[in-house]
Amino acid sequence: MPGLHAILSASSAKRWLACPPSARLEEKLKGIFGDASSPYAREGTQAHAVSELKLRREIGEINDFSYQEQRKLLGDIPREMDIATDDYVDVVISKLYEARRSCPDARLFIEQRLDFSDWVPKGFGTGDAVIVSDTVLDVNDLKYGKGVRVTAVENPQARLYGLGALAEFGSLYDFPVVRNTIIQPRVNEDPVTSEVLTREELLAWGESIKPTAQIAWRGDGEFKPGDHCKFCAAKAICAARAAEAMRIFTHGFETPALISDDEIPGILAVADTAEAWIKDIRAYAKNQALRGYQWPGYKLVRGRKGNRAWSDEDQAIDQLSRAGMRMRPLTTAPYSRLGLARSARNVLPSWSPRA
Ligand code: SF4
Repeated sequence: MPGLHAILSASSAKRWLACPPSARLEEKLKGIFGDASSPYAREGTQAHAVSELKLRREIGEINDFSYQEQRKLLGDIPREMDIATDDYVDVVISKLYEARRSCPDARLFIEQRLDFSDWVPKGFGTGDAVIVSDTVLDVNDLKYGKGVRVTAVENPQARLYGLGALAEFGSLYDFPVVRNTIIQPRVNEDPVTSEVLTREELLAWGESIKPTAQIAWRGDGEFKPGDHCKFCAAKAICAARAAEAMRIFTHGFETPALISDDEIPGILAVADTAEAWIKDIRAYAKNQALRGYQWPGYKLVRGRKGNRAWSDEDQAIDQLSRAGMRMRPLTTAPYSRLGLARSARNVLPSWSPRA
């Protein structure tokens, strides 16, 4: 469902459950800065579109000709994506055949809208592949990324999709359990994980999150930094996260001269948070500068070129071309090579972390 996003989306549920005001804050920031999609998100969208076509062909909804024509519209599909989406389709189709062994009426619903608004205000999402039978309701979610491994166990996104599927199909079939499955074909370790819950267990979990969902919907509650900040739109400029990251610099040390060994583990514990935040705030400052914002005391500069070069450029191009790589001429320096640098030492405003 391109372009449509729930404010309390399933994909951000881990975040708004941990930090309820984050959902409204993200909405506000997207209103100001736009909802820029990353190359990874665009890659994920393409992988989902390819998978959808492959599944529709497998179950006979489209023929080979239609498949090929629609596939062309998706642009160049990298070989890795073709292999990964084949793996995903194999898993889903095997599950469909398995379900049909005990329930000949079992059906596969592809890109099914799932409404979980009985538990989360205006909550909805899209189930990549939902298999419905009298033995199990099987809700499958494709994760194309490989940087962060995702498991279905205790996964709020998967559970919300499960609730949406239960609301849609619960009265039509007699399945006693819901199986939420995440298929992440590009990770080596456990690419397929599932969590099986009885209807009652899943419904009880839905009831348990209702109060927090209401708080998040209103934009109330306490800002709580944690691992869930990683994909938050506010991660660079959120004051709560900044305060958490700056704890490393406001640490009260026991002795005036040296940090003791006993103090190091506590410092390391906040160092990761501080490093991640500093990286995020640098990226934010640079992006704003690229949009024309002027930071006092800083200017955009072109970074140095690396010192690595081909010893024989013609020979390198020849060999790479023979290996099947396409060459394109070098253009001007990409944005990624631009950086922020201090322009004057005396004009920086002072700043100290909030308590
Ligand atoms: S950055 Fe973290 S603490 Fe701040 S709003 Fe986002 S999730 Fe909450």
